[in-house]
Amino acid sequence: SGGPDDMPQEIWDKVKNHPCYSEEAHHHYARMHVAVAPACNIQCNYCNRKYDCSNESRPGVVSQKLTPDQAVKKVLAVASEIPQMTVLGIAGPGDSLASPAKTFETFRQLAEKAPDIKLCLSTNGLALPKYVDEICKYNIDHVTITINMVDPEVGAKIYPWIFWEHKRVTGIEAARILHEQQMLGLEMLTARGVLTKINSVLIPGVNDEHLIEVNRAVKARGAFLHNIMPLISAPEHGTYFGLNGQRGPTAQELKAVQDACAGGANLMRHCRQCRADAVGLLGEDRSEEFTLDKIEEME
Ligand code: SF4
Ligand code: SF4
Repeated sequence: SGGPDDMPQEIWDKVKNHPCYSEEAHHHYARMHVAVAPACNIQCNYCNRKYDCSNESRPGVVSQKLTPDQAVKKVLAVASEIPQMTVLGIAGPGDSLASPAKTFETFRQLAEKAPDIKLCLSTNGLALPKYVDEICKYNIDHVTITINMVDPEVGAKIYPWIFWEHKRVTGIEAARILHEQQMLGLEMLTARGVLTKINSVLIPGVNDEHLIEVNRAVKARGAFLHNIMPLISAPEHGTYFGLNGQRGPTAQELKAVQDACAGGANLMRHCRQCRADAVGLLGEDRSEEFTLDKIEEME
């Protein structure tokens, strides 16, 4: 059958067994994340570096950081225990492309040792254009880019700085560079036929109405899904540094923006914002069963 929101059949055929894209598949297929990428090359105002990257993950969670060798060991152990494990993602705990050696070494080994597992990564997009060749080399079939704005004026309220060409860049200039790299990276992936999903964090009063423009821009550049996630704002997750007391959206505010974007890039509404070391079916989290010490015991 066809996909949600009239997704084109050829795209649906590629993603229907992917637990993150298909409402149906997420009951039957499992995914896991390995936390091999500790560093980040930008600062989001909503990020607390003590915890996992909020681009893909629920904030307030601390994942067990692994070396590429440990990560590969863990993936192979999980795959033998959970046969439905079909997708492996790198989503932090920082930015996957700010630690390119670790991220790609993990993918390289997995492409060789577990060629049936689909690979995906998520990134803020700053370093994406530089690594599109490498992404294609390991046959990574899904990339997620977090895009919160297409206007540097809005971006300056979300990103206080980026690290670019060995220098810290701040303000509108930082947001402009990030925006250009995100758009270029998305265009390059689309041109190579890599399925690309966009995540946006809805920040009330900062980018809520603006996300409709983001939706238009990413659809025009070939994104196949646009996932609008709520800013999760709780004292234990750290503050939103740009605006004191920044709150997250209400359920109605979230739905209003999602509805306003309907008919744009197909929206994904069941993303669970899983932790950077999540293991199992989407509704469950078995990461505690596969900590490093437990994997050593299994051997
Ligand atoms: Fe934090 Fe992720 Fe933003 Fe980096 S990209 S600052 S890790 S939320
Ligand atoms: Fe899938 Fe979203 Fe979880 Fe990533 S965070 S594994 S896209 S449900």
